[in-house]
Amino acid sequence: MAKKNAMKSYRLVDILSKPNKYKNLTVKGWVRTFRGNRFIALNDGSTIENLQCIVNFEQTDESLLKKINTGAALEIEGELIKSLGKGQSVELLVKSIIILGEANPEKYPIQPKKHSFEFLREKAHLRVRTATFSSVMRIRSMLSFAIHQFFQEKGFCYIHTPIITGNDAEGAGEMFRVTVLNPKNPELNDEGNVDFKNDFFGKETSLTVSGQLEAETYAQGLGKVYTFGPTFRAENSNTARHLAEFWMVEPEMAFCDLDDNMNVAEEFIKYTLSYILERCEKDLIFLDQRFVNEENSKPKNERSEMGLIEKIKFVVDNNFKRVSYTEAIEILKKSKPNRKGKFKYIIKEWGTDLQSEHERFLVEKYFKTPVILFDYPAEIKAFYMRINEDKKTVSAMDILFPDIGEIVGGSQREERLEVLEKRIEKMGIDRDELWWYLDLRRFGSTPHSGFGLGFERLVQFATGMSNIRDVIPFPRTPQNASF
Ligand code: ATP
Ligand code: MN
Repeated sequence: MAKKNAMKSYRLVDILSKPNKYKNLTVKGWVRTFRGNRFIALNDGSTIENLQCIVNFEQTDESLLKKINTGAALEIEGELIKSLGKGQSVELLVKSIIILGEANPEKYPIQPKKHSFEFLREKAHLRVRTATFSSVMRIRSMLSFAIHQFFQEKGFCYIHTPIITGNDAEGAGEMFRVTVLNPKNPELNDEGNVDFKNDFFGKETSLTVSGQLEAETYAQGLGKVYTFGPTFRAENSNTARHLAEFWMVEPEMAFCDLDDNMNVAEEFIKYTLSYILERCEKDLIFLDQRFVNEENSKPKNERSEMGLIEKIKFVVDNNFKRVSYTEAIEILKKSKPNRKGKFKYIIKEWGTDLQSEHERFLVEKYFKTPVILFDYPAEIKAFYMRINEDKKTVSAMDILFPDIGEIVGGSQREERLEVLEKRIEKMGIDRDELWWYLDLRRFGSTPHSGFGLGFERLVQFATGMSNIRDVIPFPRTPQNASF
């Protein structure tokens, strides 16, 4: 039966941004707090702001008042009036309340007090009802949209690369196997190893660590493509910057060298960050405050010199510093923490891989700006990266950010068949597995480039959240796949 005179319900974000347009209305949301049997702070997830709803408790049933608890879902009809109190411009004079879903105050874990992020990770199904997590998730959503917007405006074609892969060339050892074989008693081959011929795909398969190789094939026909999807790494690194399942943005471009690649990556990051500066102001102001409070609880020398919004603006407004690996090694060798033995890994010679302590020194202490490191030693980089004239380095580039370290890893791809074949052989990779990848170098090969941006690291930077587990709805990490 249709309700008579049913009033349309509105979202708080619309009401609070143009309050003059509204008078009598219905809102639906969850109780954040209920004070003095009179003031409900209602939130519907559309904005960081709550709507203050004023209950006339003398005219309200006690049994109903008892059900207005933090976390309960309500439908409230009322009249929007100018607020007399401080802290809000309008408030809702309640005419009627319907309890849509109760929340028992003895059992509902998200109470109006400060909860630690560790505690909230164990309540991952409810944590989005807090101000911090709802802000982070709105920004995450806006950033994903900005990513599509950027590439679509630039004429990139969005392609969906496979999640299940039969390539083991990419990330040998750190992949999650995909199988339907009986774990108790898998059939063995003559050599006593598991016989994957009987498995679902007739071969060993895994969850992808990157969509790059497949994206390259499409770039060599569509010109400019990007893939944006989940990737998986079984590396057992319990850090604040690693997830076992994370989202990666990977553009691939034909007719594109390393310089073009760096230009696109820098423009891309700045675009997405400006996008949220323009559209997520209230969430950013809130997270900025949270960030500053957190920083102030740290010892002085470990505090960030800038606030969150300031940091984002700084990245948007300044050129990233481009430095070759060789220059970086010279700087690091001479640096104070290296000379004084303060680094855990002392830089002795050219050719060593940089650890995050070195990356952070370059970004946070030395250049004080995002850094693009390029031309890395071939020895420490992947097989598909283009060998430079010097035969020692490859056309690789990593973008390093303050607090989070590496946010982008990319390169110009090796387009010369013989050079690539030699490299594959030298690295002991099974060449037959890559026949289709090598075909790209046989037929209409082009100088081409691409990069991968770890989406959660971007969200971390944009929200000031120090742990990557707090910027994805349901984090997957070692020993943790609940929800
Ligand atoms: P790192 O050195 O930080 O472990 P990587 O060199 O292994 O990263 P790439 O293979 O270059 O990473 O992947 C491209 C991007 O994906 C990285 O620049 C980073 O932003 C992101 N990334 C890599 N591994 C993870 C992970 N486990 N969790 C979240 N993001 C990741
Ligand atoms: Mn990398």
